[in-house]
Amino acid sequence: MAIVTPIETSDGARRRLGLASPATLEPIGEIEVQNADDVGAAVERARKEQPAWAALPIDERARVMRRGLQVLLERQDEFIEVVVRETGKPHTEAMMMEIYSSCDCLNFYARRAAKILKPEKKRLHGIMALTKQVRVEYRPLGVVGVISPWNAPLVLSLNPCVQALIAGNAVLLKPSEVTPYSGKIVGDIFQEAGLPDGLLQVLLGDSETGAALTVAGVDKISFTGSVATGRKVAVACAERLTPCTLELGGKDAMIVCDDANLDSAAGGAVAGSFMNTGQYCCGTERVYVVESVADEFSAKVIERVARLRQGAEGEFDVGAIFWPPQLDVIESHMADAVAKGANVLCGGRRNPDLPGLFYEPTVVTDVSHDMRIMTEETFGPILAIMRVRDEEHAIELANDSEYGLGANVWTRDKRKGMEIAEQLHTGSVCVNDITMTYGVQEVPFGGRKNSGVGQVNGEIGLKGYCHAEPIIVDRFGGRQVAGMYPYSRKRDERMQKLMRLQWGTSFGRRLS
Ligand code: NAD
Repeated sequence: MAIVTPIETSDGARRRLGLASPATLEPIGEIEVQNADDVGAAVERARKEQPAWAALPIDERARVMRRGLQVLLERQDEFIEVVVRETGKPHTEAMMMEIYSSCDCLNFYARRAAKILKPEKKRLHGIMALTKQVRVEYRPLGVVGVISPWNAPLVLSLNPCVQALIAGNAVLLKPSEVTPYSGKIVGDIFQEAGLPDGLLQVLLGDSETGAALTVAGVDKISFTGSVATGRKVAVACAERLTPCTLELGGKDAMIVCDDANLDSAAGGAVAGSFMNTGQYCCGTERVYVVESVADEFSAKVIERVARLRQGAEGEFDVGAIFWPPQLDVIESHMADAVAKGANVLCGGRRNPDLPGLFYEPTVVTDVSHDMRIMTEETFGPILAIMRVRDEEHAIELANDSEYGLGANVWTRDKRKGMEIAEQLHTGSVCVNDITMTYGVQEVPFGGRKNSGVGQVNGEIGLKGYCHAEPIIVDRFGGRQVAGMYPYSRKRDERMQKLMRLQWGTSFGRRLS
């Protein structure tokens, strides 16, 4: 997208949406909105196909992922074109954020899933160690609904699908109506990779389709999107006791300490705030810089921002805002900040030289927590710098937020960076880097406070698409439980002796 416009349809027909490029405003296509009946039929089909897929050895499922990786590598130019057309991102950004990360994810889970999901023998403690054997098996949940946003439309759709599929589930993917063609790429990749039909179905549509999916009786919802929609998804899932993960918005803080390498920190601030035109869930939305280095830092930032090229064609660094409501949010946050005394060092307006949805890369100082630009998610190319007394003050302000997705700290002293990281109430922290946790396949990703519920990615995320099923076998063929009834005083006395042995003697404590 793109710019989404409803198209009139006759009674009883599915609704249609027209899409236009955010960069050129020219039409780029139309989609039909899948309704509750379509979603219901897709769930039914997925249920039919899923058991055979789950019964395959995990290596077979990994083979499909590896073929998917080859498809992605071979057709990357075509896919990049699709993403750029509907988002207005720079080519490099589409390649780096969407293609590279998707390849890395396919490769990572293809290579690691078998090990992560291998049945685990557990050594029990205490008296049960003598009587029971236990194995935990990771069973697929069944049918998983993936609902994704528009800001990184390919990787945020593909990544949860890869994890759910390799774990043995069937998936229904509902990409954003703003970027439906990028979502469709996921279906194309798996079709060409030889995934059996029905195991990954892409349902195009808007909130109607997404809401229908949350109540369609799937076994899990993996949702990525805004806090407001996340709450609706949580309510729908709660009513049906459907498990869900919610990866929601953020307002990431960056802390620049007085001993930071200011060139690196300025580079990090510019990348963190303007990458993906600031429409990045872990984008740097608030910079707290210790006042002794604040002027030098701001000067270095301005110098870098002056070199950024905004555009729609050829080589450029900052692209379009993906759709009009986001531009409205950005403009209202800036208007509020300026009205309350913020100082705009550069940008601060729509780009008058470009026809589409372009907001100039903006640096703003003299901001405070009375301004929406420091408290609500702006999701735009705005770098807001606030001077702070010292690092303690920065930590206090960074934690003064209803969000808690990511944060980053800049210092030459790694130990200090770690100590500050430990004091931040947020999902993850990077030291001397922009928040790039989502791209680190090994680690879990997820927000605290309003930024989310549950975690995705890595071992925790992959296991989240499974039910961890303990299988407990009695070593003595069940004789012990068979003798459990009827109760007697003698039995109670034996139990008391056992407790004394187990927790009242050094031998028993060693056993426990
Ligand atoms: P959104 O909440 O508007 O939409 C997300 C998806 O939900 C879309 O596919 C949409 O069609 C669907 N949807 C809308 N109403 C629904 C309903 N009632 N039930 C079910 N689904 C429904 O979010 P967006 O504007 O597409 O994305 C931007 C937001 O996503 C930002 O807040 C950003 O921070 C957040 N985000 C978070 C992460 C993360 O991992 N934490 C990653 C990327 C984006």
